[in-house]
Amino acid sequence: MFARALIISVLAALLPFSALAQNYIPGEVIVKLKSQAGTADSYAFVGKATSDKEMVLKESWGKMNLYHFAVRKGETVESAIAALQQDPNVLYAEPNWIIEKTSDVGFHQIFSAEEIHAAAANSQASFMATSANIGVQSVWSSSSSSSNDKPIVAVIDTGLDTNHFVFTNSGAIYTNPDEIPGNGVDDDGNGYIDDVHGWNFVDNSPTMYDDDGHGTHVSGIILSIDQNIYTTPLQAAKIRIMPLKFLNGDGVGTTSNAIRAIYYAANNGASVLNNSWGGSEYSAALHEAVAYTYTKGALFVAAAGNAGSNNDSRAMFPANYNVPNVIAVAATTDYDYLAAFSNFGVSSVHLGSPGVSIYSTTPHNNFGTSSGTSMAAPFVAGTAAQIKVNSPHMLGYQIKQILNGHNAAVNELVGKVQSGGRLNSADAVTFSKTAAVDGAQPAYTLTYQADRQLASNIAGAGGCGTVRALGGSDGEPPFGSAALVIALIFAPLAILTYMRLRTPVQRRKHERFKIDSDVRISVGGRELVGSVSTISLGGVQVNTSALLQDGGTVTLAISSPDGAEKIEVAGHVVWSEANKAYGVAFDHTPQSVLTRIADWTKGLQKAG
Ligand code: CA
Repeated sequence: MFARALIISVLAALLPFSALAQNYIPGEVIVKLKSQAGTADSYAFVGKATSDKEMVLKESWGKMNLYHFAVRKGETVESAIAALQQDPNVLYAEPNWIIEKTSDVGFHQIFSAEEIHAAAANSQASFMATSANIGVQSVWSSSSSSSNDKPIVAVIDTGLDTNHFVFTNSGAIYTNPDEIPGNGVDDDGNGYIDDVHGWNFVDNSPTMYDDDGHGTHVSGIILSIDQNIYTTPLQAAKIRIMPLKFLNGDGVGTTSNAIRAIYYAANNGASVLNNSWGGSEYSAALHEAVAYTYTKGALFVAAAGNAGSNNDSRAMFPANYNVPNVIAVAATTDYDYLAAFSNFGVSSVHLGSPGVSIYSTTPHNNFGTSSGTSMAAPFVAGTAAQIKVNSPHMLGYQIKQILNGHNAAVNELVGKVQSGGRLNSADAVTFSKTAAVDGAQPAYTLTYQADRQLASNIAGAGGCGTVRALGGSDGEPPFGSAALVIALIFAPLAILTYMRLRTPVQRRKHERFKIDSDVRISVGGRELVGSVSTISLGGVQVNTSALLQDGGTVTLAISSPDGAEKIEVAGHVVWSEANKAYGVAFDHTPQSVLTRIADWTKGLQKAG
């Protein structure tokens, strides 16, 4: 298994996506259900998938109705997807695409003479000139941190050298206040044990490192808007950097781990997400994850890509997801020309930002130079974070408008990027200080991309009704006929009614409320995922495809309805519908947890 994954990673690092016959992880799919998580038919689907189809549930993202599965051993992704798309519960199924960092690797040959000159001057001095160009020095002195609630920038990348003196001396690394280091317990109940300084999704561990250097370089650029990272002593940082490693030492990762990292960032307080990576494959699931960050009020900064091409005609994701909080960033030279390697797009790329010969932190207390839109994006993310320092309640959507509206107009960028401008950190931060904070942001309706490529297309299966409906080239909505939708709405109601009859009413002392939340279930040494569909002060209904023993003791980490917090509570199974649904009565619930549940249920509908 390991050997196979390694070979794919190396191939992906060496070849452009178009040259890869198979640019997705073998044996894995991501599935979106039509029904909400926590409904009878969603758990029935998961139960059937894991029993009948021998699929293994690797992860679920309840708020998005998304599930990540390993398919039956020996089955191809193409055939699994073709079968899933015939399932009336499935909105879509797609491969787990491989994605990679957007760095300068392989692009030196198309550098302009000017860029080669700049690359030769790779020094602190050239970095300071770049910083001066976008007005960073005035930001260093003008921002003041009055709040203990320092804005968190999630760096979704190759990791971070958390021992680099620039980050340790400035105290810039995010610390989870609710997690006790190294005690082997998920103290804050967010599903991750000992996640004190972010999370490593490659190893599934809290151990953070950067075996590539890309994430450390990006993080230094973000911090360079906060303060001069080349002088001593370093200042106390006004922002926090949350390293979320999902790219391996070759700078390669998977869509599923990107979604996990984005979901983690959005649910654990990040207000700015830096994404210096991408791929050419459209993923509806990744699109949903980006849209989820919008509902959380965060800003999603994305590198435009380094192919020197027009993203309006050849899309790059996540930069091209047209969610209102996504800001896509092109790279400019010190002379405000678009860098030769930089992607652009008057519709899809929003602004330029320095990205040539950028000097920043590298692992082992070093510094080094790198070029790419990967370097341009973090200047924007760092500036957005300083706007948050001054205006903690400003939403990412509004910050994007300010960054676009208050930048430096540059002739060379007109017709290349939407705003026709290059980042001006000083102007954007100054303007934001007096801008009224918008209380709300517009609603966003996610529309899946029409010409998305699925594995069944790759396999030439064609003719699959769901693919065509999702494809929408004939203008059909993705849901198919109205009759099908009606059938799907009513079928689960019948099952729920049956469930209620089975639930012994006399056992309940507390009012039950409908809820739709993720839950992690610890049973002995096992960690399981599921959802909670009803909750009371006395217990919950847990839906999971796993088998729990009647009378058995479990520990539950239950997400709040908005996903913002979790409670951890112990209980035992009092009734069961094997592999589907379980009633769990709480044991010795602390008053603090009961208070949280009482608060949550204030906004919830009563259950029958
Ligand atoms: Ca935790």
